[in-house]
Amino acid sequence: MRPDLRPLPARPTTRFAPSPTGPLHIGHVANAVWTWGVAQATAGRVILRLEDHDRGRCRPEYEASILRDLEWLGLEPDDASARSFRGGPSPYRQSDNAERYLRALDRVRAVAPVYHCECSRKTIAMTLGDGEELRYPGTCRHKGLAQATGRGVRLVVPDDEIVWHDLMLGRMAQRPARQCGDLLLQDPLGNWTYQFAVVVDDSEHGIDLVIRGDDLIASTGRQIMLAGRLGRRVPAVHLHHRLIRDEAGAKLSKRDGAPALATLRAAGQPAEAVLGLAAHLTGLQDAPTPIAARELGGLFR
Ligand code: GLU
Repeated sequence: MRPDLRPLPARPTTRFAPSPTGPLHIGHVANAVWTWGVAQATAGRVILRLEDHDRGRCRPEYEASILRDLEWLGLEPDDASARSFRGGPSPYRQSDNAERYLRALDRVRAVAPVYHCECSRKTIAMTLGDGEELRYPGTCRHKGLAQATGRGVRLVVPDDEIVWHDLMLGRMAQRPARQCGDLLLQDPLGNWTYQFAVVVDDSEHGIDLVIRGDDLIASTGRQIMLAGRLGRRVPAVHLHHRLIRDEAGAKLSKRDGAPALATLRAAGQPAEAVLGLAAHLTGLQDAPTPIAARELGGLFR
């Protein structure tokens, strides 16, 4: 199934946003095929962003291997983002941007209730929200806690329905208050959360098209809500594509042995074969026909 690209803004800016918690594997390549393919088909551009907000799990050597792998695949990010990773701090590497997230938190605070929370993952008496997710029951919402080490920051989430038109899935509607409850923006260790960092970055990097796997679909309503709190008037357009799944139907990840790209390369696979395989496994080609990076747009025209 192909996405309907007609609702897209002219020359969209999208992003490829891996977390450097491991080397790229075929699942990342599938997302890259969608991302660069749609960008090529719409004369758009791709920003590379390294989502290393989780300081405990990210490693600089994985950042280096991601850059090497993209180059080998022939996938070129927007020049400004690509150049920025060659030395010194980058606006596209989350760990270099603590100040920017602090300023964004101030902007949210100015328009919406935000509070400090002393619950840790272990002590939170979570209730089951809509779907599979655990919902924060608002334990600290009215405690009036001051900022302190070991306390996180949460945004009060009103019980509104968030509606968007997904380029693959059509009309979508979510109620974040019933899925996850008040949203954690900064965790008790001081890490900016994925939800917060990704929305700040998408707004500030001018991302108007988000292309990602459908494992992240539950996050989209809350991210659109948060973007609004950050002053974004027109939310990004979203496209959630099918993931590559293993034989049991589970999401493929390095934990269940998805081969790293470097392994495929060392086994003599050319880049075109890896791109073609990923395009096939994610439903964009009937067969694993090799395809060059510069031809990916043809999958979407
Ligand atoms: N960094 C996320 C990941 O590697 C992607 C985030 C997103 O596309 O919103 O899964």
